[in-house]
Formats: sequence, structure tokens, C-alpha cells
Amino acid sequence: MPRQRRTILTGRVDLRTGSPALRTTPIFRFALAVMTTLCVAAPSRAQQTQTEEMERRARILATAPPDAAKVLFGRQQTGAPTSPRAIGSFARGCLAGATALPVDGDNWQVMRIARTRNWGHPDLIALLERLARRGPSVGWNGLLVGDISQPRGGPMLTGHASHQIGLDADIWLTPMPGRRLSRDERETMSATNVVASSWMDVDSEVWTPRHTAIIRAAAKESDVTRIFVNPAIKVALCREAGSDRSWLTKIRPMWGHNYHFHVRIACRDGDASCKDQDPPGAGDGCGKELQDWLALQRKAMFAPKRKGGGKPKPERFWTMDDLPGECRQVLVAR
Ligand SMILES: [Zn+2]
Repeated sequence: MPRQRRTILTGRVDLRTGSPALRTTPIFRFALAVMTTLCVAAPSRAQQTQTEEMERRARILATAPPDAAKVLFGRQQTGAPTSPRAIGSFARGCLAGATALPVDGDNWQVMRIARTRNWGHPDLIALLERLARRGPSVGWNGLLVGDISQPRGGPMLTGHASHQIGLDADIWLTPMPGRRLSRDERETMSATNVVASSWMDVDSEVWTPRHTAIIRAAAKESDVTRIFVNPAIKVALCREAGSDRSWLTKIRPMWGHNYHFHVRIACRDGDASCKDQDPPGAGDGCGKELQDWLALQRKAMFAPKRKGGGKPKPERFWTMDDLPGECRQVLVAR
């Protein structure tokens, strides 16, 4: 495998640092802001095995102060036993009354079980179960479910800026095999990268009409407001959508998301503590906006690395003061 491709697949290219010219463009700054506040940054999130994840967590724990919000929320093993409430925003908040998606269902299997991130708002868990059951009718055998949220939501020790209030879920772009995966396979098996090495389209060797079908089925769920996919995946969806294009509005291009798609549902009715986003703009988003994303991604992926590269900024760890006040109760509720 050529060196460049290998580097991309293992996620060592950091899209936050493109070429200097690229970093000065307004759209790049906008995209960067979106990327860092709403979603994941590295292209290969689903790839980390249990061992790699444990090493990453240990590195963070070695430097994080004990009152860091991600340390406090990261150690929770059970939900807060209250009525369900999403508190704060997708990238800054927490979750009360979460339920866990069972690790096995007829039409789904939870991956990376050891991370304990199969918790979510009960409405999101119900949606995942419903979508999983619908899968076979659109040719998708079942869902391999990645990270949802921690038992009480909140910031995570590793990965994901969002996924904090139990309304976001990652679904692998690998169809569920027709057998139960072993515990070991669920911790080590690699998800499928469906994007071509050009980063301009899907990889025709792995992409199938079934991929479009399951993403379309998810987008057509009325609770779903956004689905994040790599811009190259949106290219395929735009091409394969046919005449019914209304659901494409919900398909939002985002860095990474080449091994999984990310489903987001709206704040629940009457949940005053939950800060929703505006709905995405009208139109299918298959025109200039998508072309701009593709161009930016391509530049960022193939720009020569600057010598020296600048030192990464040390992380500023959020404390409970950085989260909505109600999250303090969520953390200690018994
Ligand atoms: Zn996600």
C-alpha cells in the first residue's frame, strides 16, 4: 500500500492542519469550527481496537486533572435513574435517564462493547432498534452499532466532540454478518472504509446500493434531523438518490465518517434543557456546497506536511463549570 494511503487510513493526517493557504479560507475556518465543535476529527474513529483505546485513555488520564469533566463522566457505568432528559447541546452537555442498547438484538450487534458507550436517550435507542428491524427490508442485514453516548453522556475521554446528550449514534458502514460476533471480534474487528483513495467518491469495490438504502431509511425517520457522512459518500448518495431527493437535505458532509455514518435526532418535545440546532438549509446539498467540501478534504489530505508542523496546543480540560449546571446532579444521581 502506498505510504500516503496508509497514512490516511490510519488517521494520522490531521484535517485540522491543512496547508497554510487552505487554513485562511473562510469556508475552511467554518468547516473547522463545525468539525471541532460538532463532530469527530480523525478519519478512522471506528478503527481503534480495545487495546488502542485503552492506551489512548491511559494517556489522557495521565495528564487530565481529576476534576476534568471527561474523567468524571468517563467513569460512569450506569445511567442517572431519573426521567430522560438531554441537557445542553450536542457537544456540551450530559444525559439523564439514559437506557442502554442491548448488545445483541435480532437485527443489531453493538461493537466495541468495552467502551460502555451504548447508552442513549430512550427515543434514540428505540429509533436504532426500529431501523435495525427495517434493515433487511432494504437489503441491509442488520446494524453494527458503534458509539452512542456514555451512561450519563458528557464529554468522553477519547474521540467525539459531540455524542454528549444521548441523541447521536454511529452506525458502521459494514453490514452485520449473519452470525453473532464474538466479544473479541467486536473489540478488534475493523470497520469498512467505503471511501476511495482519491477522497472524491466511494470505493466501488466496497460500496453497494444497500449502503444507500440503509442511509436513506435512516434519513426518512422523522425524528432524524441530520446524518453525517464523508463528503465522498454524499457524492454517491446524490448520484443514487433518483427522483426522491427530499431526504438528502439531512445528509450533511463531515470529515471522517468514512467507516460509519452518524445519526442525530432532534431534542425531544418539552425538553427545555436541550439546545437544538437549526434544521439544515433547504435543497439536496449536492451542488456547490458539496464540491467545496470535496475540494477542502482533498487539499487537506494531500497537502504536503509542513516541516516542523507546529506543536499541538495542550488540551484545556473542561471542568463541571463548563457544562450546564444541571449536569452536576446528573453526575451524582443515585
Ligand atoms: Zn459520531
